[in-house]
Amino acid sequence: MKNMIFLGPPGSGKGTQAVKLAEKIGVIHLSTGDLLRTAVKEGTDLGKQAKEYMEKGELVPDHLLIGLIETKVTNGYLSNGFILDGFPRTVPQAESLKKMFVKNNMNMDSAILLQVSDEEVVRRLSGRWFCPTCQRTYNHPSNMPKNEGVCDDDGAKLQRRPDDEESVVRNRLEVYKKQTQPIEEFYRNESILIEVTGEQAPTAVFEDLLKVVNK
Ligand code: ADP
Ligand code: ADP
Repeated sequence: MKNMIFLGPPGSGKGTQAVKLAEKIGVIHLSTGDLLRTAVKEGTDLGKQAKEYMEKGELVPDHLLIGLIETKVTNGYLSNGFILDGFPRTVPQAESLKKMFVKNNMNMDSAILLQVSDEEVVRRLSGRWFCPTCQRTYNHPSNMPKNEGVCDDDGAKLQRRPDDEESVVRNRLEVYKKQTQPIEEFYRNESILIEVTGEQAPTAVFEDLLKVVNK
């Protein structure tokens, strides 16, 4: 299994697990959240269009994300296997992805859903710190860097995400339920939805993911 989507509410551990799993099995990790944050930081056209939605915890319009992913599919960037993290996030995005795949003779092996409760999401995101250089994620108090406030890998100063403020997190959870959860049904109908308990230690989640991937 090498073509996967990671699904799950904000804070369910998609990024944490996708980085490790992609490295372990040698596939590309593509996070639309990371791509968008870079675009905002660099002030590109995409970044300018995405910024205000992201700050409010709303979804960036479908056509922008679909265009972004279509470029990656058509230029062969995903052809040796991938984990899509944060895309698709709406039914129209899932439908467009399916069409892109048919057109490019690609297939999706699985959509892996990380299940985590709302309270755990709020707890995790209020403690999330990330490295702006390598995107690695830390957590206060469960997963701290060796030296306070700096990334273990490259020494960059860790940052908080503005959209991890609690009122924005609550909105992102609502947005997830309204706009993203329906795609669980989409992939259940395609018979590729696999559910994994996200609310356990990161190493236990990783073991469960490896079992799924090696099946
Ligand atoms: P997502 O990409 O789904 O938004 P992240 O992987 O960024 O989620 O994780 C959100 C926060 O929760 C981070 O601070 C991360 O360190 C922490 N975290 C991730 N997995 C776990 C876990 N299994 N148990 C506790 N905290 C976790
Ligand atoms: P999360 O921690 O919620 O998983 P991400 O880093 O994946 O966060 O995404 C951060 C923000 O980027 C989202 O709240 C949304 O504004 C925007 N975004 C990311 N991916 C998409 C997408 N596929 N469609 C629309 N907006 C997106």
